[in-house]
Amino acid sequence: MINDTTAGCDLLVVSPHPDDAEIGLGGMLAALSARGRRVWALELTRGELGTNSDPEERWSEASAAADVLGLTGRVQLALPDGFIDANDQAQAAALVAVIRRLRPAWLITAPEPTRHPDHQATPALAARAVFLARLSTWRPDLPPLRLHGVSALPDPVDRWETGTVAQVCTEDGRPSFLFDVTGHWERKLAALDCYRSQLRRDDGRRATVINDPAFLQRIDDRARRWGRQAGVGCAEAFTTLQVPVLDDLPAGPWR
Ligand SMILES: [Zn+2]
Repeated sequence: MINDTTAGCDLLVVSPHPDDAEIGLGGMLAALSARGRRVWALELTRGELGTNSDPEERWSEASAAADVLGLTGRVQLALPDGFIDANDQAQAAALVAVIRRLRPAWLITAPEPTRHPDHQATPALAARAVFLARLSTWRPDLPPLRLHGVSALPDPVDRWETGTVAQVCTEDGRPSFLFDVTGHWERKLAALDCYRSQLRRDDGRRATVINDPAFLQRIDDRARRWGRQAGVGCAEAFTTLQVPVLDDLPAGPWR
């Protein structure tokens, strides 16, 4: 039995940059936190290559967003922005060390893989770390990091098996499951509003894809489109690496 201790974390979201988690699945994070789930966000980098702002401002924005969503904690590593690499041993080690301390039942990577190389590399790095976290023969040290919501991480276990691994579904992908966020959409928007340096074009900020007002509109449109497919107001979509296994007929309908 690998998981012989109580999981310290129901869901760990692994993203390359501050704001990715909120953009990809802020509604789900708000919904789960409201139910008392222990939800953590982890950024691999400080977002130092961002067109606008600097790592300190981005960290304060991410901390504020974590409070809006009611997250249990937020972890920010200091891997190199722009150079996330699933084949880099030090990067895998950093993530394994945190997984062994947080002991997530679920791990979801965000955002969807896009043209940004870090967004493409993050699911592969997370998959490698999830695998390596099971091997007690490799015991990497905790890397430099900063924390919000807690003063320290728990002691590590020798090995940890994350139960389910998923990622945010691409815009035109086929979801493995949809998550109803109808009652939590306003809180997601409030969390996104914390990222003024990234998602607002005011104050003389340089124009980017994500501070174009059309970007937030696209997020909203997409959630309502997934929602229509699910028969609810708004939904977020995910793909899983594993196929769900049933041993009975589910109680509710699949829409
Ligand atoms: Zn990003």
